[in-house]
Amino acid sequence: MIFICMHCSKEYVPDPLLIRCECGCALWVKPEKSFSKSDIITDDLTMWRYSKAYPLDKESIEVSFNETITPLAPLKIGNVNILAKMDSLMPTGSFKDRGAAMVVNYLNTQGIRSVSEDSSGNGGSAYAGYAAKGNFDCNIFVPAGTSLAKTVQTRFYGARCFEIEGSREDVAQAAMNSIETHDSYYVGHNWHPLFIEGVKSIAYEIWEQCGYRAPDNFIAPAGNGSLLAGAYTGFQELLKGGAIEKMPRLFGIQTEGIQPFVQQFNDENIEIGSTDTLAEGIKIQRSSRIDEIVDFVRQSNGGFISVNESQIEEALRSMGQQGFFIEPTSATAFAGIKILLDSGDIEDGQITVGVITGNGLKATNTLQTLLVNC
Ligand SMILES: *Cc1c(COP(=O)(O)O)cnc(C)c1O
Ligand SMILES: [Zn+2]
Repeated sequence: MIFICMHCSKEYVPDPLLIRCECGCALWVKPEKSFSKSDIITDDLTMWRYSKAYPLDKESIEVSFNETITPLAPLKIGNVNILAKMDSLMPTGSFKDRGAAMVVNYLNTQGIRSVSEDSSGNGGSAYAGYAAKGNFDCNIFVPAGTSLAKTVQTRFYGARCFEIEGSREDVAQAAMNSIETHDSYYVGHNWHPLFIEGVKSIAYEIWEQCGYRAPDNFIAPAGNGSLLAGAYTGFQELLKGGAIEKMPRLFGIQTEGIQPFVQQFNDENIEIGSTDTLAEGIKIQRSSRIDEIVDFVRQSNGGFISVNESQIEEALRSMGQQGFFIEPTSATAFAGIKILLDSGDIEDGQITVGVITGNGLKATNTLQTLLVNC
């Protein structure tokens, strides 16, 4: 395994403390893998069945819930059949477990016992859950004033939460400094190169579940874009291995107030508007990997679009009525699919996958406020 910066092309020998290039940009695991059907470890029914694609050997995986392959369930948007990838059923309730599983196991192979992350949401819960499973020490840095309710799951796993005054960047910086302050290794889900390596398992699962084919379209909410990056990387490896014939079109969905990916994709200036949105999990003003991910999405012939609050609400209700209790952030994907169908960008008869990135049980307070309007 080699780390590489996609901006300045500098390469690095991996080191547990190295998560950022000298030039300031995010690092990636250098893309060197390819994968085909014969590489699957068929008697393993967990995400580790694709270990040949990962930077860690299956034998070195010690921290695991034997993560299930999540269902790819049929549903309808209007009259059109689509598929929902139910990552709401991951061990801590969001897709971020895929990334946390890889990072925690990487650090475990390096003899490290303490991790730090900046997130009051699913990233924090995912790391705290895996830290608990592996008997790691876990420090989660959150903005001062973060409500207890937002960190219950994280705290329940036994992680310490540190409230940091200042901007969101100050919170991240405090977590990055944790090696000095708490003898703890920074694993930030928006920065750690191994995080994407775990997220790419979603591409492998979908490929198998579609009968060893790529779907036509893959649609996900976009915050930092790690999910899109993971999907791209996984499908790219399958393409290189000859296991699929074409890359699915990747679409990232953002909100009207915060849509830096959409703006950069359309060559517009990035302007942040209202941050008052149901889609809590994608309030990211600038992705650490924005240039690379816009490029991936372009290469896939996909795109970025935004949805408004009433479209998110409508998608949430429609999903609920079909038996899917999802996080409001996840509803952006399905609101986006509706728009893409209406505009003819994607079509009935194609295989379209939307990702349920998080479980509705994480947001019962927010969802309760929508109930009165039912
Ligand atoms: C983190 C998260 C997202 C956004 O994922 P990115 O990889 O940051 O784009 C979407 N939905 C939920 C529920 C999340 O927790
Ligand atoms: Zn660089």
